[in-house]
Amino acid sequence: MSQTVAVIKGDGIGPEIMDATLQVLDALECGLNYKFVDAGLVALEKHGTLIPQASLDAIEKYGIALKGPLTTPIGKGFSSINVQLRRHFDLYANVRPAVSFPGTRSHYDDIDMITVRENTEGAYLSDGQEMIDDGNTGISVIKVTRKGSERIVRYAFELAKQNGRKKVTAIHKANIIKTSSGLFLDVAREVASEYPEIEFQEMIVDNACMQLVMNPHQFDVVVTTNLFGDILSDLCAGLVGGLGLAPGANIGEKAAIFEAVHGSAPDIAGKKIANPCALLLAAAQMLDHFGMTVKGDAIRQGIRAVLENRRDMVTPDMGGTGTTDTFAQALVEHL
Ligand code: NAD
Repeated sequence: MSQTVAVIKGDGIGPEIMDATLQVLDALECGLNYKFVDAGLVALEKHGTLIPQASLDAIEKYGIALKGPLTTPIGKGFSSINVQLRRHFDLYANVRPAVSFPGTRSHYDDIDMITVRENTEGAYLSDGQEMIDDGNTGISVIKVTRKGSERIVRYAFELAKQNGRKKVTAIHKANIIKTSSGLFLDVAREVASEYPEIEFQEMIVDNACMQLVMNPHQFDVVVTTNLFGDILSDLCAGLVGGLGLAPGANIGEKAAIFEAVHGSAPDIAGKKIANPCALLLAAAQMLDHFGMTVKGDAIRQGIRAVLENRRDMVTPDMGGTGTTDTFAQALVEHL
């Protein structure tokens, strides 16, 4: 069965890293077809909107998108396209692996953990759901629901189960934010009781930050609410060498969007030195999602081998002397 993927090349370095990624996917003979659609600045110029309806329709039709970074123009009237996409398709699980790779600037080796962040509620509500902003006082709302908590915690446990992982840690602030974070923790405990084979740990978010820096190897799968997940997953990216190696999947019932965590890097766009690793790792997550884990592993092992053995082909941000294209070429040669 051939699968079609909606591909958004994105802004800035997006087209460069997407071309490199598609070159690797083609070399792996994954049998994928691509439907190229516009979003971001390109779409604004061509169609007068950051996300044309045709692009939303394509993602809905094919259910899977691989997305380059999108620039959100500065100024009123432009809300983040990424947030809009997550809301539109109810992509409730943001799944961000943090894995150590050789030859990267990091204090630790052998980190292998996954952050599962609730992506649709928490402190990140749409405009208008904020309560008060009169210029002197700002009051924001945190919304946590039983349904939202249950589906994200269940997602984390199922992910752990399917990947042979041993432990799920729920991170919260239920001691202070009792109603919302307290509800999340209550539901996490209930769901955890259905998975006796997987160890369950609860941790208050401030302690979790310290533990992640002091002893990250104790973590396996982490599940948490939106704001904590946003912050903690960047902390985890920092533990394994930064955003150049950080992929993310946004997963819902009807659609999933795979992307690099970093932005469009306008400062290096067009220079052919953008590191394609994060988008390549997102493509590997997409292959896992299709059940093609052997091919996903081939990308991860290929990246490992290139970083270890071909410094001349690696991009400058990783300490190499190569380009986006030489990295892809070296990876293809390794497959
Ligand atoms: P950024 O991630 O684009 O860049 C931060 C720094 O990291 C820059 O110095 C950049 O050169 C470097 N960098 C990022 N990715 C790199 C790569 N693959 N290889 C080498 N170096 C890399 O963050 P920013 O400058 O704050 O944001 C630029 C634009 O991207 C903004 O419009 C922002 O809204 C958007 N953005 C989009 C996404 C997304 O689409 N998922 C995420 C974050 C930011």
